Amino acid sequence: DARQLLLRMNSRPGSVLTTLMQDNGTTTITTTTTTSRSLDKYNIDWTKMYRGQSSLVVRPNSTQEVAAILRYCYEHRLPVVPQGGNTGLVGGSVPMAREIVVSLEKMNTIHNLHDNILQADAGCILQDLQDYAFQHRCLVPVDLGAKGTCQIGGNMSTNAGGVYYYRYRSLHANCLGLEVVDGTGQILNLSYSPRPHLKDNTGYDLKHLFIGAEGTLGIITKVALWCPPLPTSVGAVWVTCSSLQDVLGILALAKTQYMTEILAAFEYMDHKILRLVQATHATSVKLPVDIDCEGNHRGCDHAKYSILIETHGSDEAHDQNKLSAFLEHIMERNLVVDGVVAQNVGQVEEFWKVRDICNPSAAATGYVYKYDVSLPVDDFDNFIAEIKSKLNSLPLITQYPADDLQCVNWGHIIDGNLHCNIVSVGKFDRDPLLMEYVEKCILQAVTKRNGSISAEHGLGQYKNKYMNQIKDHATLQTMRRMKKLFDPAGIMNPGKYLPNVKEN
Ligand code: FAD
Repeated sequence: DARQLLLRMNSRPGSVLTTLMQDNGTTTITTTTTTSRSLDKYNIDWTKMYRGQSSLVVRPNSTQEVAAILRYCYEHRLPVVPQGGNTGLVGGSVPMAREIVVSLEKMNTIHNLHDNILQADAGCILQDLQDYAFQHRCLVPVDLGAKGTCQIGGNMSTNAGGVYYYRYRSLHANCLGLEVVDGTGQILNLSYSPRPHLKDNTGYDLKHLFIGAEGTLGIITKVALWCPPLPTSVGAVWVTCSSLQDVLGILALAKTQYMTEILAAFEYMDHKILRLVQATHATSVKLPVDIDCEGNHRGCDHAKYSILIETHGSDEAHDQNKLSAFLEHIMERNLVVDGVVAQNVGQVEEFWKVRDICNPSAAATGYVYKYDVSLPVDDFDNFIAEIKSKLNSLPLITQYPADDLQCVNWGHIIDGNLHCNIVSVGKFDRDPLLMEYVEKCILQAVTKRNGSISAEHGLGQYKNKYMNQIKDHATLQTMRRMKKLFDPAGIMNPGKYLPNVKEN
């Protein structure tokens, strides 16, 4: 019997449930038993910071199978972790203990793209959707470094931001419909229809509760996404600056008439992360502009920050003129040290390769204490200086040699989103004392600036402990009541997102 089998499998060393078919009320299950090591892929997260001990991974093929699994788990009070591409950076996608992993990897059919609306299964890889949309002359309005692995269901569940957020806005803005299965196994159609509409004002818009819910209310099985027309003219420029003031000067000008309608992305990286990129990926990527202080390159001592700007438009001559005028203007104002304009789309992609490799470069250098914060942009430098100065007094507190730590930073500065990373060079294990110390410093530095401790990565099991400090009691209680509505047995991704009741 399917039910007993599921229960039994959960206590075996390693099992992947390959097929679950419902036919006239009878359930047939085919399973493959593997070594527990082959389940590492599902138990260990991208950062390698979080590790679960699940011995059962379920890989449904359809919404009906997801519903059968969740109905069963609800009836038997079996905890479940929904998993997409497992690229989340806050430990939300892996079990905390022995929860059953429900992987969406087999639900990867792209259904169609009509009238700029893309419909796809939640397990589709983001890059596959981007390629499909490209063939239909459309653009998927979300893009991020993990696009080759993350899934659209995971993107929805984390309300992923990425590099086009400023131009195309959030997934809340672009999602037109979802199909979900709640924590009781009930299938809910949240404006997901064979002919989706742009507008639908009928009732509470429940899909928004599932966007960014990190799998705590149910499982997203299908997505309808607005994909704007593909820009026919794409350009990019890479410039270096000597101060944050200059970066902000360029940003302010880019937002005004100098670029406005063609501005698509504005990313910032400090020279320290770019040194790590050079050190770890010299053979696969090349920096567009020399930032090496040892070299003789013009102004290289001052290339403290790099900016990557992408433009999207529909008239190449117009966009190029606009970009040239913008560059002339920022050079006249002495805001740039050096720069290079992409000569073709291939070069635009080369620029992005450097930006996308920032995360992996930090991870290849040592253990990364990662923070993803929202701050007023003119506070980025102060914030970083404050964290660095706290790190200098670290040896007194933790005996940790501060020299072994490097603070490297990049982020979506146009959204006020800083990725602040403290790398323990050459050490790949987390130091719990150091982590506690750094987290306290970050929390203090963010809250005193009225910022957010999670701009886009979410809460998972990493940041949920701070919810009591950042949300008021009434708000938290309302969130708990809402969770209970969709997940009355509390089986959906337990221990994540909302803080532990005991901590309340
Ligand atoms: P997972 O990691 O598998 O899961 C994330 C959360 O969603 C978990 O809580 C999981 O339980 C839940 N979940 C997954 N699928 C479903 C589903 N179908 N239904 C319900 N719940 C589900 N994030 C950004 O926002 N912006 C960035 O620019 C960015 N850049 C990144 C760059 C790199 C190199 C890496 C490694 C990560 C980056 N991330 C970024 C973080 C991460 O890629 C995103 O959070 C992404 O949206 C996660 O998608 P996923 O499919 O991997 O989800």
